[in-house]
Amino acid sequence: MFGRAPKKSDNTKYYDTLGVSKNANQEELKKAYRKAAIKNHPDKGGDPEKFKELAQAYEVLSDPEKREIYDQYGEDALKEGMGGGSASHDPFGIFESFFGGGVFGGGGSSRGKRQKQGDDVVHSLKVSLEDLYNGTSKKLSLSRNVLCPKCKGKGSKSGASGRCYGCHGTGMKISTRQIGPGMIQQMQHVCPECRGSGEVISERDRCPQCKGNKVTQEKKVLEVHVDKGMQHGQKVVFEGQADEAPDTITGDIVFVLQLKDHPKFKRKFDDLYIEHSLSLTEALCGFQFALTHLDGRQLLIKSNPGEIIKPGQYKAINDEGMPHHQRPFMKGRLFIHFNVDFPDSGVLSPDQCQVLEKVLPPRTSKHLTDMELDECEETTLHDVNFEEEMRRKQQQQHQQEAYEEDDEPTMPRVQCAQQ
Ligand SMILES: [Zn+2]
Ligand SMILES: [Zn+2]
Repeated sequence: MFGRAPKKSDNTKYYDTLGVSKNANQEELKKAYRKAAIKNHPDKGGDPEKFKELAQAYEVLSDPEKREIYDQYGEDALKEGMGGGSASHDPFGIFESFFGGGVFGGGGSSRGKRQKQGDDVVHSLKVSLEDLYNGTSKKLSLSRNVLCPKCKGKGSKSGASGRCYGCHGTGMKISTRQIGPGMIQQMQHVCPECRGSGEVISERDRCPQCKGNKVTQEKKVLEVHVDKGMQHGQKVVFEGQADEAPDTITGDIVFVLQLKDHPKFKRKFDDLYIEHSLSLTEALCGFQFALTHLDGRQLLIKSNPGEIIKPGQYKAINDEGMPHHQRPFMKGRLFIHFNVDFPDSGVLSPDQCQVLEKVLPPRTSKHLTDMELDECEETTLHDVNFEEEMRRKQQQQHQQEAYEEDDEPTMPRVQCAQQ
């Protein structure tokens, strides 16, 4: 079919136009096109060129056969396949067929209803690090508005509605209020009679189920799948599941994952971190301990023969970090940050110190002679909390700087501005 040698260039443009990834599924394509096309529709003041590009990109990518050709050979191959000549397709036709016609109604057409984009409903969903490590699913019960099934969102038994007298069909009302002698305040607000819809349904014609409200409440249970390796802040989207309303494209329900702090493990990207304290003896002579991992497995963690762990040292275990999202068999690393607890002052007797000196490496500072000692001044070492003191010093410095800035004369700046 194609005489040309396979070319690997320019097969990402359509994806970029719609703002989706190369492995986007049909649902994602639809959604991307839906939002972008409404936003860029020339009837709403959008850019006609952009609108055309969107339609073209969507037309190709939504057709599995065309998409495959495009992915393999790029845009040119498609033009060849379609008998040369560029885009003969009509962007408005594509748009209409997507929305089933009459989205904006176009001025004087018989169905002058505008489709609005409904709001997305965003919830945060608390998850533990265990949830993100093992994957889980959580059932959540939500109530939402759906178009009344009895009147199909019309609000009336007959399906008819009349123009609201209160606002003459505009949905808004202007009221005036005297707020002082000769002073009148004008306020615009949503018409209370039709609640902004601009139409009314006569008492007798009202739908008995929704009482003319057009929507009813529905309880819905959503099962949110939290995949292994998902991140804090990641979104799980239920497309078109938010509140339904007449003449509105239903928005999405979006769950944003909120990771709860873990008492033992911290996560950075795909790595895990834990703190572990060793006694001085363990640090010098070796240690072993069991660590309960996030999936309940017991890991035996031990030093190598002859190994000495220094305070603040890190060690890592490969493939015991977080699973990668969508490739859970790949895992990051588990880092252990060691702290060494030294014995308290006074624990060692002079005799014990002598024993220790025999086995530990020799002292580095040289022994001072009596004469050298005589030339030295005596000092006393005090305990300090170094970090705390540094923090306080920094605070003082900030206050000092702020004071100096306030003190600066402002005159020269004013002069400059006048020149
Ligand atoms: Zn009204
Ligand atoms: Zn109804």
